[in-house]
Amino acid sequence: MSNKFRRETICIQGGYTPESGEARVLPIYQSTTFKYGDSSQMGRLFDLEEDGYFYSRLANPTCDAVAAKICELEGGHAAMLTASGQAATFYAVFNIAGAGDHIVSSATIYGGSSNLFTVTMKKMGVEVTLVDPDAPEEELAKAFRPNTKAVFGETVSNPALVVLDIEKFARLAHSHGVPLIVDNTFATPINCRPFEWGADIVTHSTSKYMDGHAVSLGGCIVDSGNFDWEAHKEKFPGLTTPDESYHGLIYTKAFGKNAFITKATAQMMRDLGSSQSPHDAFLLNLGLETLHLRVPRHCENAQKVAEFLQDNENVSWVSYPGLPGDPYHKLAEKYMPDGTCGVVVFGLKGGREACVKFMDSLKLGAIVTHVADARTSVLHPASHTHRQLNDEQLVEAGVKPDLIRFSVGIENVEDIIEDIVQAMEAAKE
Ligand SMILES: *Cc1c(COP(=O)(O)O)cnc(C)c1O
Repeated sequence: MSNKFRRETICIQGGYTPESGEARVLPIYQSTTFKYGDSSQMGRLFDLEEDGYFYSRLANPTCDAVAAKICELEGGHAAMLTASGQAATFYAVFNIAGAGDHIVSSATIYGGSSNLFTVTMKKMGVEVTLVDPDAPEEELAKAFRPNTKAVFGETVSNPALVVLDIEKFARLAHSHGVPLIVDNTFATPINCRPFEWGADIVTHSTSKYMDGHAVSLGGCIVDSGNFDWEAHKEKFPGLTTPDESYHGLIYTKAFGKNAFITKATAQMMRDLGSSQSPHDAFLLNLGLETLHLRVPRHCENAQKVAEFLQDNENVSWVSYPGLPGDPYHKLAEKYMPDGTCGVVVFGLKGGREACVKFMDSLKLGAIVTHVADARTSVLHPASHTHRQLNDEQLVEAGVKPDLIRFSVGIENVEDIIEDIVQAMEAAKE
């Protein structure tokens, strides 16, 4: 299907158009491998001279259909699924930045992404400079080096809820001849399409709102097809010079606008694995069919919860970009006029101890290491993900000791608020 349909229609119908007599619902191609009648055809597939499936580590029809749907939703050119959001982030960056290279990333990103950049990719020889996303453009420009290959940021960051000024970051990236990669997990293409603001590549943890039911881990990389790799040939030899593992093929010459995704599939996926299983892709597709209904309800509920918290005497502070007083409200109105996400973060008077009592007293909200699914869930980084740190170290890591990450589900919002009220009372005892 083309981009002529609106988002709601793409959520339901995108990516898969059966012919007469074929399954109405996207089938699960539960097969690692695909059969061919003659060996020379199989050879051409291996040489990337012909399109077709041969092994599900590289490509699978179910996964491709779901990737095509997400691609349409983002208004992109080509896309691929990965086994997790972490794999999507890693492949998107490693596809163009290797040992001896450097990337610039917003400091306010998902903890898993910052570990990937500052610990694991550092060991692989890729250096990262973390920047304050709110710094002025002249200041941010100083982070770039001759070997910088990409800029990375998150539309709405998990868990700090910092809204990225995508146009500013795109300008900076492009004036230094590199692409802007945006993790659009929290906003989803229902609320924001980063390509419309100049981003070049979008990544997702589909484990969150896209799946929406906390049943299936996954990731996705979408390429806008807009970045001109050939214009910055010397920076991206992996795309613009011969790949000896495919008999000297040059991705930009052979695949044009598909170069980035083809390389990520044919090379990264071939060598590193991390493909999504067709069964998980099928579940993800069911989630995507209602994304356009769930995301607005998550935002509506989160707005009401944030407003309730803002006026509550037990609360010391609350962050939600939908609140007019929030430092990111202006950017949110520009990039996400229909809403940002369903996650609200706040602190309780009484600090760490009150937070723990509050969470233990919730009846509807559950303590889980997950966000962004249909069920209301809660996490206290100081007691969970960051529990090895003392209060001082927490503040250095940008996590307030009393920060509660409250992922508002799509239950009745009155029930969610009543649960918060009773847990706050219990926390005082
Ligand atoms: C969860 C998350 C990831 C990592 O995704 P997984 O599917 O858990 O590997 C990346 N980015 C953001 C913003 C996330 O919330």
